[in-house]
Amino acid sequence: MQKKGRISVRGIVQGVGFRPFVYARACEFGISGSVKNLGSEVEIYARGERFADFLAAVSRGPPMSRIDSVNVTKTDAGIPDGFVILTSGTGSFSGMIPPDIAICDDCIADIFTPGGRYESYWATSCVNCGPRYSIIREIPYDRERTSMDEFPPCPACAGEYGDPHSRRHHAQTIACRTCGPGLRLMDRLGNDIPCVDPIREAAA
Ligand SMILES: [Zn+2]
Ligand SMILES: [Zn+2]
Repeated sequence: MQKKGRISVRGIVQGVGFRPFVYARACEFGISGSVKNLGSEVEIYARGERFADFLAAVSRGPPMSRIDSVNVTKTDAGIPDGFVILTSGTGSFSGMIPPDIAICDDCIADIFTPGGRYESYWATSCVNCGPRYSIIREIPYDRERTSMDEFPPCPACAGEYGDPHSRRHHAQTIACRTCGPGLRLMDRLGNDIPCVDPIREAAA
């Protein structure tokens, strides 16, 4: 028997990879529907035989989330096959902003992968880590409402952003050496000090 409903999740559900997490669980449990960030809540429409398993998984949330409430209501909305992440709505401008999250082990591994896209790149991050509070100008949390909006993603980063199998699926902070912010070393008067690697130079 197919079941469907509208699921509303409140708490720290922005900037913690909640939408890609929901997308992955929908694929896992064969759920059709959509997920949308409404600012103060995440709204999910879901339909499928394993609705209960999906609801239980969604209610646990990704590692960095903190869920305060989950409400399920009936819906008459038609839900087409497949699952999509919808553009954020701006229904309400309240909601929790997560803190900056220390770099995760996977991203550290990326930085130390020789020849990788993120080799030695200081601003490497993913849906599980990276700046949030420091860069968010307003919510809903999407790149265009953060200080990362000055750094449009390169084709490789845009590809990872759109890839449901990537750890950076819908990671708003995705950036690499090609497209992301760089670093400069300056003296106390603000003059540039030419060097190859500002972090190594400063450490030295
Ligand atoms: Zn990470
Ligand atoms: Zn890039």
